[in-house]
Order: sequence, then structure tokens, then C-alpha cells
Amino acid sequence: MKKIGFIGLGHMGQPMCLNLLKNKHQVKVYDLVTEAVDYLIDHGALKANDLADIVDDVDIVISMLPEGKHVSQVYLGEKGLLSVAKKPLFFADCSTIDVQTAQTIAQKAKSLGHQVVDAPVSGGVKGAENAVLTFMVGGALSDFEYIKPILAQMGKNIFHAGDNGMGQAVKICNNLMLAINMIGTSEAFALAEKLGLSKEKLFEVASTSSGQSWSLTSYCPVPGPLPASPANFGYKAGFTAQMMLKDLKLANTLSSEIQLPLGQKAMDLYESFCADNNAGLDFSGIYLKIAANKK
Ligand code: NAD
Repeated sequence: MKKIGFIGLGHMGQPMCLNLLKNKHQVKVYDLVTEAVDYLIDHGALKANDLADIVDDVDIVISMLPEGKHVSQVYLGEKGLLSVAKKPLFFADCSTIDVQTAQTIAQKAKSLGHQVVDAPVSGGVKGAENAVLTFMVGGALSDFEYIKPILAQMGKNIFHAGDNGMGQAVKICNNLMLAINMIGTSEAFALAEKLGLSKEKLFEVASTSSGQSWSLTSYCPVPGPLPASPANFGYKAGFTAQMMLKDLKLANTLSSEIQLPLGQKAMDLYESFCADNNAGLDFSGIYLKIAANKK
């Protein structure tokens, strides 16, 4: 049993915490949203009132926050984790953020005697609920070995990606592929409808053909073929369009050395989808935008 502090109890953080509790760890939780904290208290977690409270009497701190600016504030802010931690701790940030921020935090944390990894995830809310996430860990191999058994209680595939920041690098490349796949899958369904081909038939055939992808068979963007996908629930997130836009901005701004023509186009599409008041919808809702496009 470990004593774990967990910060960020949203779509992903909540089910990840529940799995740690299920595995009999002592979990102390913190979030700006009171209801998110209360829910986990009702499920056996302890409450932290602030960041100083989170680092008190724990071995490991895990964070699952929206963007780099939140992670930066939580770790490096005036009353952030690195200034309030009184003894060496193990920090694992599972948020998807830019490589530079992850490396800055790691450098500062290590200089203060802490261990630190970036450990972003793939697999979505369902993956978090079912403890089958993929973790992409950046940090020293010994730190990876230390945290692996804990991550394995929230996930199924736990990879060492390289030094600090390389977990984020893999994650950003992965989500670049995901966004492009999701848009491509949406275009195929929009075209099928115009051709008079049923979405069920396209799903059935493409699932076992070369068009197959996670976007199709685990997260199908049209209602019907895959009853559990967000498309069947009014595109309730899930992984929001805003989060996908954030990740595409990370991919496009990080790539000063190389042009990403489809990455750029995917970012433009998500930007305009979000601007149309859809930022909070699941990212697979991009189908609605594609299907509404007319020549
Ligand atoms: P979310 O917005 O649902 O949850 C984030 C939580 O962090 C919220 O509860 C918010 O109140 C809390 N928070 C924000 N600032 C805080 C602060 N300063 N102190 C304490 N709490 C704070 O986001 P999510 O969907 O759970 O995603 C979290 C991260 O995981 C993101 O970086 C996202 O890109 C990544 N991710 C999400 C999914 C997904 O399917 N949702 C999948 C893979 C990766």
C-alpha cells in the first residue's frame, strides 16, 4: 500500500483514482471543483485542502490536469508542489502537455531531490474506467521501474519512452495520428451516406479492412455501429474537442523543423469546430462538422 496524493479529478482523474482506491492505496485528493473532491471522498479517498496538504504524508503525487499552464502553476507556482514539498517525493504528471514544460518541471524537481516522470496516457475515459490505459513514461529507467506497478493498476500497457519529456513527445505524435484518423473516419461515413451505403455496412467491412483504426472500432464517430461510443450519447465527452485542439496546437507549434500539412488542417478544423460552441463536445463530434459540409 502506498500513500498517494492525486490532483485533478476530471474525466480521467476520477476513474484513475477509483482504481487506486480499489487496489487499497491510501489516496488523498485535490481539485478546484468541490463536487469532484466530494465524489471521491464518498468512495474512500482523503481530502486535501490545498497543495501543501497534498504533499503532506504521501510517497507519490500524481497529477491529471488539463493543460501545460495548469501543470506549470501546480508544480512551479509560488505555493506550488515543488515549493511546499518538505521531503523528497515521487511526482508523476499524467496530463498531456508540451515537452518543454515537462522538462523544466523535471529539472527543477530533480534539483530539489525529488524523482519525477511525465506519464501521459491514451485510452480515453473507458480505458481509465477499465484500468486498461496506455502509459507513456518519460524519465530515468529506475524511476520508470519504481512507478510501473502503480501505473499498472490504472493501465495495461506501460511504456518507457526515454528521458523526461519523451512521454509527452510520444503522446503528442499519437494524438496527431488520432485526430487525422478521426477526421478521415468521419469523412468516410459522411461520404457513405451520400452514396447510399449504410453506416453499419461500412463499419462491418472497414473494421476488417485496411481502413480499420481505433477511431473506427473503439470510438466510432457516428451513432449506431458501436453502441458505447460518444456518438450515441449526443457526443458527450469523453475527450473534449478543446483537448484535441490543445494537442494539435502542441504538435504544430513543436514542429518548427517540419511542416505537418494534415496536422495543420486538422488543427484548423478543430479550431473552427470549437469556435462554433462545440469545445465541450467529445472530439468525435467533428463528424457533425464534416457531415454538414456541402460543396
Ligand atoms: P478535465 O478537464 O475533465 O479534468 C481536469 C481537472 O483538473 C478538472 O477537474 C479541473 O477542475 C482540475 N484542475 C484544473 N486546474 C487545477 C488546479 N490548478 N488545481 C487542481 N485541480 C485543477 O480533463 P481530462 O479530460 O480529465 O484530461 C486531463 C488530461 O488528460 C488532459 O491533459 C488531457 O489532454 C489528457 N487526456 C484526456 C483523455 C480523455 O479522454 N479525457 C484521454 C487521454 C489524455
